[in-house]
Amino acid sequence: MQAKLLTTKEQVREFVADARSKGSKIGLVPTMGAIHQGHQSLVRRALQEVDTVVCSVFVNPTQFSPTEDFDAYPRTLDNDLKLLGQAGAAAVFAPSVEEMYGPIMAQHIKEKGLVDFDFISHAVPGSASRLWEGQDRPHHFGGVTTVVSKLFNIVEPDVACFGEKDYQQLAVLRQMVADMDFNLKIIGCPIVREESGLAVSSRNRYMDDSERERALALSRSLREVRESFANGERGVKALEDAARKTMETQDIVIDYVAIVDATTLEPLSSLDGVDGKDARMIIAARVDKVRLIDNASLA
Ligand code: AMP
Repeated sequence: MQAKLLTTKEQVREFVADARSKGSKIGLVPTMGAIHQGHQSLVRRALQEVDTVVCSVFVNPTQFSPTEDFDAYPRTLDNDLKLLGQAGAAAVFAPSVEEMYGPIMAQHIKEKGLVDFDFISHAVPGSASRLWEGQDRPHHFGGVTTVVSKLFNIVEPDVACFGEKDYQQLAVLRQMVADMDFNLKIIGCPIVREESGLAVSSRNRYMDDSERERALALSRSLREVRESFANGERGVKALEDAARKTMETQDIVIDYVAIVDATTLEPLSSLDGVDGKDARMIIAARVDKVRLIDNASLA
């Protein structure tokens, strides 16, 4: 069944109140649309916890920087409603920028292009946002924490599902929920991959066949590192260098490769005595013009 389209905050509040009055618990799955199996897996996971899942489809301008693909980001709402409905979502909140941020901010964005969100009250991300995507993309996580806080306040869900695909985002949001005492449970969901190993992403559509083939070096390097770790390798640099080499042989330009603490996202200098489950390798790299991210637990 197609999910019900809601475009205003008021409609969402009514929909949620009605579901709650029938005894439903509420799950939230925030997305930027261009729905694929990765997003659908979050809906299915949420349905293990609650009866009613509300998704959001909103390409959030405040989390893009001016050089990024905000305008070009795929917008496929009709298909999104179908695919989210198929996965079991009851409703999809797809607001305009004006509905989400109010007329003054919307006008500001329109006139100035993509501005940072300091123009409005906003949620400041904590220490997990400091490095990696936070360094390469200033304001990105502030945009994410702001829009997700707003969604939490609009929907008031019991649980919210996020993919491990955007691992640092998940860590930043977990930290925000703990630091700010949001009354909900965050569920991190495993990365959905194509059979080849490529992590499913809406940006994969920008790659041709040969770029896709080269992009497999990201997941391959993660697999190799996990294998080395399982075989006893504990050198952080040795593991990072091996991953680097696997990708560089495919002419992939690496933004970062790092082994980090799975909760704080701080780099680990040593793996001695560290449980592999508490360590994560995170990668951001470019295959020609397409920037990809991937990550895996070391165990
Ligand atoms: P996006 O629409 O790309 O902002 O993603 C919305 C949510 O879907 C985020 O929580 C992502 O981490 C999650 N997601 C995206 N791709 C995948 C994937 N391949 N597997 C699992 N979750 C994903």
